[in-house]
Amino acid sequence: MKYDFAIIGSGIIGLTLAYKLKQKFNNSKILILEKEPNSVSHGSGRNSGVIHSGIYYEPRSLRANLCVAGAKELKEYIKSKKLWINECGKILIPTSDDSNSNLNNLYERGQKNGVSINKIKKDEVEKIEPYVNCQFDCALHIPFTSVADPKEVSKSLIDDLVKLDVEIKYNSKVLKIENNQILTKENNFEAGHIFNCAGLFADEIAKNSNLEFRYSFLPFKGKYWKIKNKEFRLNHLIYPIPDLRYPFLGLHSSHNRNGDFYIGPSSTPVFGREQYESFIGDNIKETINLMFNFSKKIILNENKLRTLALQEISLLTKQGFYNQIKKMFKNLKANDLELSNTKVGIRSQIFDPQSKNLVNDFVIINQKQTTHVLNAISPAWSASFAFADHLIKEANL
Ligand SMILES: Cc1cc2nc3c(=O)[nH]c(=O)nc-3n(C[C@H](O)[C@H](O)[C@H](O)COP(=O)(O)OP(=O)(O)OC[C@H]3O[C@@H](n4cnc5c(N)ncnc54)[C@H](O)[C@@H]3O)c2cc1C
Repeated sequence: MKYDFAIIGSGIIGLTLAYKLKQKFNNSKILILEKEPNSVSHGSGRNSGVIHSGIYYEPRSLRANLCVAGAKELKEYIKSKKLWINECGKILIPTSDDSNSNLNNLYERGQKNGVSINKIKKDEVEKIEPYVNCQFDCALHIPFTSVADPKEVSKSLIDDLVKLDVEIKYNSKVLKIENNQILTKENNFEAGHIFNCAGLFADEIAKNSNLEFRYSFLPFKGKYWKIKNKEFRLNHLIYPIPDLRYPFLGLHSSHNRNGDFYIGPSSTPVFGREQYESFIGDNIKETINLMFNFSKKIILNENKLRTLALQEISLLTKQGFYNQIKKMFKNLKANDLELSNTKVGIRSQIFDPQSKNLVNDFVIINQKQTTHVLNAISPAWSASFAFADHLIKEANL
């Protein structure tokens, strides 16, 4: 059977894309191929669930534009479906002299991106957040930022897509794309336009399909620690003012609908694409490649990766992790922390050998009948609805 559109991957990007394609072309035949038995085994089921405002990103970048627009739409969708959302807002606190000097840069960047931000004084922070340690005079408050349940959002989108006759084939691993055909082990599928939204494997599928690009894959694992102390409560999401050279936001709080609080995620180099429990991948060639790539970048300190790696090593033990976060939180003991075995994700990060930097924006590569989505890092979950509109526009459909 020939489809109008075929999408590889049923993470949030694949699902919102199918939803938007159906809105624009309501008689179209759409197929989604997913290698797992569900849509939430990877990034879209393993993130912090934070709906970001768009404050962090370089003005006019894709991340800034799509996050600001997409996050509003995601909130509207969640509310229209009566899904869980906590519109708690976020407080960003400086955690070092460098981070304090970044506060004004971040404030200006957020304003340029059209985000509503307030500066608040240390006393006020400590009054509204008794467990927060604000070492400097001033912090930033973003009322818009919220938390939702990523798995519930995916489930709701899948229910909508099934009603709209979108076909989702689970347990269907795509090997490659050849012209307008998608090849799996068992079948070939033909489509007018193919979207590669395979998250951690998008670059591999693109390479297997003979797309030439200069980027290399460099995954970072994010682990979270659960706070066992039930007395510990935060009213807002608490984040550090980050180092804007990296695409990572720093260790921050997150919470879920059951009232469980977590601190994370770390940003540890990992030598495989889906190694949630170990650091070594099951594809030996790729593991060796990644070890070599990471070691080279760390030795040469490209993009300050040595500095980052050294910081990350200190986070591997409970005491090391506690030493980092005690700058931000008070009345918290190392024994209140428990490493979560289930809450762990891997970022589908790519590296640019030309600029020698971690790529800090989404990368979309269009061919005649195919679109590849690379580097769908945070805030792709928040941005997803606008991201989908953008993919449709860029594919000239
Ligand atoms: C630790 C962590 C915390 C984060 N926190 C946030 C946050 O709070 N807010 C936010 O906005 N963003 C956050 N993000 C980012 C966000 O989760 C991702 O940007 C987003 O989920 C990317 O969605 P995706 O659809 O591209 O990828 P995925 O959700 O990974 O979906 C890709 C799908 O493709 C499938 N697939 C892969 N290969 C194949 C193949 N060969 N054949 C068929 N299917 C295939 C996979 O099984 C997967 O289901 C976080 C990310 C991490 C790692």
